[in-house]
Amino acid sequence: MTIDWQKEAEKYRDDLLQDLTTLLKIDSARDVEHGTKAEPLGPGPAKALRAMLALASRDGFDTLNVDNVAGRIAYGDGDEIFGLFGHMDVVPAGPGWNTDPFEPVIVDGNLFARGSSDDKGPSIAVYYALRLIRDLKLPVNKKIHFIIGTDEESEWVGINRYLETQPAPDFGFSPDAEFPIINGEKGIATFKVTFKPVAAAPAALTLTGFSAGIRTNMVPQDATATITGTVPAALTDALATFGPANGVKVASEKTANGLTITVTGKGAHAQEPRGAVNAATYLATLLAPYDFDPAGKQYLTAIATHMHDDSRGHNLGVAYTDKLMGDLTASPDLFTFGQDAEQSVAVNIRYPQGTDAEGIRDQIESTLGLDHVAVTIDGHAQAPHYVDGSDPLVQTLLDTFHDHTGLPVHEQVIGGGTYGRIITRGVAFGAQMPDQENVMHQANEYMPVADIIRAVAIYADAISRLVK
Ligand code: ZN
Ligand code: ZN
Repeated sequence: MTIDWQKEAEKYRDDLLQDLTTLLKIDSARDVEHGTKAEPLGPGPAKALRAMLALASRDGFDTLNVDNVAGRIAYGDGDEIFGLFGHMDVVPAGPGWNTDPFEPVIVDGNLFARGSSDDKGPSIAVYYALRLIRDLKLPVNKKIHFIIGTDEESEWVGINRYLETQPAPDFGFSPDAEFPIINGEKGIATFKVTFKPVAAAPAALTLTGFSAGIRTNMVPQDATATITGTVPAALTDALATFGPANGVKVASEKTANGLTITVTGKGAHAQEPRGAVNAATYLATLLAPYDFDPAGKQYLTAIATHMHDDSRGHNLGVAYTDKLMGDLTASPDLFTFGQDAEQSVAVNIRYPQGTDAEGIRDQIESTLGLDHVAVTIDGHAQAPHYVDGSDPLVQTLLDTFHDHTGLPVHEQVIGGGTYGRIITRGVAFGAQMPDQENVMHQANEYMPVADIIRAVAIYADAISRLVK
């Protein structure tokens, strides 16, 4: 039987968009502040999970809710388990949206909403691929487990709970990256740089506050500093010229005894900070030359000298490249500074095989100097992950993608940490097309509707080849 996958996928367009809209309207960012025993990650992630499982039960699939933090949609039977791994949580909306991030709108064929491309759009494409396989009664000789997490953007609480209580799939893919495939993922660790107290000394200016960033996996788009004291003319001039000279927006406002200064850059996913404009390191670079109090000076200077415009970590002393997995990347993402309060920067680093988190920690500490900082690994580091290009899983997925698009296919390693890494034979496959810009984690995130439908066709074909 020859199947016109694209034509079959098109039949679901209206139903799919309606279901996807239901999911996108739920603000499912991690919200542990409002967590309860029943919904530990907050009401949003649990609500989105239940909404996804409700669609599947409505359509007659077996579903399982694991403590409101993870879920499963199951279909088919056999000895082996084929896994699909998506997630229903999103990163916070953040600033800079032209439309309400939780009121999906389609403009020129693009669906705008937080979660449209990461990962509700690709997840719904996988779900409709399963429906297509079932509706066409295609042969299935394995258990298919579509596993849904709700904390992918932070601590992976959901997927970890799932794996503690449910069987791990034998092989599978996560629809949470790009085509043609991601069969390698760098190691990931966040390093918390905490600044040590320094003796006070008179200075013209005092840095009273510095803050930026909302997540360790997002390059900060906005940064704010508050300063007190006598603002020198040179700084007043710099406030006017720095923005245009550096491609950022600088705004300042007089306060009772100083200034509040805000820089706006361009956010991005921390997995590839090159191309983003880190508002915080620009703000520190703007302020560092002036006569600040010793603690403020130490903080601003370290950021300006060792973290600014340096996506490969050269100035932190951690630059490293592996032939197969590529460059280490460094992204300072969370900034906190107050006088007599926490003074820290959290740096998110993606590293190839050949180096490790402990070594990177030691190197950052020695570059910045033990007199100035202490560096700790925040949470647990995830080791690099790689599935060989000759694995039939990789080959089948690449063949399928090529058959649908005619595009050249190749192995690919990224800095992202997708659920593909949770099993030994796990990869990420789509749903972002190779020529499509990556807008995940950014303001005005969108996904072309045509790409979602195309993903349904590719996923249905790929899954069907892998489970028959
Ligand atoms: Zn994702
Ligand atoms: Zn994400």
